[in-house]
Amino acid sequence: MLTGKNIHKSFDDLEVLKGIDIDVEAGEVVVLIGVSGSGKSTLLRCMNFLEMLDEGEITVDGRKVNHKKDDLSKVRAEVGMVFQHFNLFPHKTVLENVAEAPIIVKKINKKQAEKEAYAILEKVGLSDKADVYPGKLSGGQKQRVAIARALAMEPKALLFDEPTSALDPELVGEVLQVMQDLANEGMTMVVVTHEMKFAKEVADRIIMLDEGRIIEDAKPEIFFNHSENERTRQFLEMVD
Ligand code: ADP
Ligand code: MG
Repeated sequence: MLTGKNIHKSFDDLEVLKGIDIDVEAGEVVVLIGVSGSGKSTLLRCMNFLEMLDEGEITVDGRKVNHKKDDLSKVRAEVGMVFQHFNLFPHKTVLENVAEAPIIVKKINKKQAEKEAYAILEKVGLSDKADVYPGKLSGGQKQRVAIARALAMEPKALLFDEPTSALDPELVGEVLQVMQDLANEGMTMVVVTHEMKFAKEVADRIIMLDEGRIIEDAKPEIFFNHSENERTRQFLEMVD
């Protein structure tokens, strides 16, 4: 569904991604971990062309993305992203936040888009907040709106960059629950997170990034219990 081949990315003299190969199958949940600065965010951003690759290629649903010719806003619609900070529009209601992109990017008529947005809000448990402004929501509710907004584009895959890192501990669970529900429904997902319980229970595969390279790619059971990689073991001791 989503593949990256030989992805290289530098910022000036700093080589951040040093040849990444990643292949995410339809319905698969891949958790991406690694210490701060290892390149996790840059990799996600490259996968939906928020960042241009220096080298390598991305394919979405079997089709190679040509960043010169393709409409990148369409690519970003196909590969949605949820950020640590929710970036909601403060002057639009929850419903308007969710319906905005389908109206603007997909040219769906307002009434239809709002009907669909409402259904998605129901799914993330927030239909009762449809007419509220984001300022009135808790961090967990804001993040669920951000997920609803990504879902409104009917993406082929969703990327999550530390979606719970900015939340108070008591609000983390409701967001992880929505993500788990999506995983159960077969959404293709790549998730950067330090929530190891989520990784163990929900991931099909764990990928460990270290200094811009993938150093391990394994099923959770193997990764958490039988890794022979020194850097992985250090990492797991640190996050435990
Ligand atoms: P992670 O998400 O794993 O913490 P990042 O992908 O954010 O890592 O960053 C990897 C490295 O790239 C860091 O050293 C960071 O400072 C650098 N970096 C990321 N984005 C930029 C940018 N836009 N310009 C310059 N350096 C950047
Ligand atoms: Mg990051």
